[in-house]
Amino acid sequence: MKRKKRIIIAIDGFSSTGKSTMAKALAKKLNYAYIDTGAMYRAVTLYCLDNGLFDGDIVDEEKLMQVLPAITITFKPNAEGRSETYLDGRNVESEIRSMRVSDKVSIIAAIGFVRREMVRQQQAMGKKKGLVMDGRDIGTVVFPQAEMKVFVTASAEVRAQRRFDELRGKGDTTTTFDEVLHNVTERDRIDSTRAESPLRQAEDAHVLDNSHMTIAEQDQWLLDLYNSIVDDN
Ligand code: C5P
Repeated sequence: MKRKKRIIIAIDGFSSTGKSTMAKALAKKLNYAYIDTGAMYRAVTLYCLDNGLFDGDIVDEEKLMQVLPAITITFKPNAEGRSETYLDGRNVESEIRSMRVSDKVSIIAAIGFVRREMVRQQQAMGKKKGLVMDGRDIGTVVFPQAEMKVFVTASAEVRAQRRFDELRGKGDTTTTFDEVLHNVTERDRIDSTRAESPLRQAEDAHVLDNSHMTIAEQDQWLLDLYNSIVDDN
């Protein structure tokens, strides 16, 4: 059988649509690398929170610009083979998913020089192809030439419920559903209206509304799309 061509797969969309879950599953199935770009913006946000760069919702941008080149964000698989995020050599996978970080990440992600640095690092990771990357601007800015682009959406209530269940599952018993719903809609608002590469659907993206889909159904949808694209190439 002819060896299939290795491509770049860009998965963008609104907050908490399950992009990472589907991107990870697809990467595993295809034996591709997987990069969660949201984790990179979350890691920078955690750095700012832990180093006193936030005053309420205001960021000390001058200080951040000085320290950003020295911040290292890497991904390493854990014992089960799942990729985890490291900030300056420290495993921050669980901390970056907390509400403390979720509440501030869209502020950091709206800063132009932060985006330019993250995009530079993401493009370097994609040099070898055979990659699934998820985020907000992958199909529009990071890899506009990606062979497969997906834009994922679902109703805000469905997304908030999924995120809420996930937080409860991780032992967070204090965050309320309304707080999660507010965080999801607020991040959508900031991400879609920012001046620097706002969240928007690429013209050549395939839209996936997974409000009423099971994980197995969405995995199959993605695989069918992948097969149709790769067979045409
Ligand atoms: O994907 P996730 O929800 O973890 O992303 C966290 C935040 O990082 C988003 O709400 C958005 O503000 C920002 N982000 C971004 N561009 C990306 C990935 C994430 O602006 N490519």
